[in-house]
Amino acid sequence: MKEDQFVVYKLQKLAILLRILGFDVLYSQNKDYIPVINLAKRENRILLSRVKFLRKLPWIFYLKEDDLDGQLEQTIKELKLKLKKENIFTRCSKCNNFLQEIQEDEVKREIPFDVFGRGYWFKRCFNCGKIFWNGNHMITLKEKFKKLNILS
Ligand SMILES: [Zn+2]
Repeated sequence: MKEDQFVVYKLQKLAILLRILGFDVLYSQNKDYIPVINLAKRENRILLSRVKFLRKLPWIFYLKEDDLDGQLEQTIKELKLKLKKENIFTRCSKCNNFLQEIQEDEVKREIPFDVFGRGYWFKRCFNCGKIFWNGNHMITLKEKFKKLNILS
């Protein structure tokens, strides 16, 4: 089992946060859980789930907490995940692809007007096209990670 690759089942916000932290996360909300289990097995990924009846399967990591912060904390602590600052914001939170840094000028026409010229960095996902920058949202996230004491 690869310890830093996951399939997250039906917990989209957790999947997004783990991707932002730099982990390789596939997400599924498929009604039928069998293909999801098979995917995790095939790729040697840890399956994160809060589905009660899946809890007893030994290779499924069952999340006890209902709230997102609790789920993130449990995942990181119990799986002893190593977080690296340099891995944060390297993956697309939407599709899991690696992001590439781009110049502000290249995205000028695609970003909100008030984002331009503020000294932010910009990254693009060349898979889904989404553009990221370190605006307020990113600062809030960093504070969250700090508060949860998951970043050294
Ligand atoms: Zn993407």
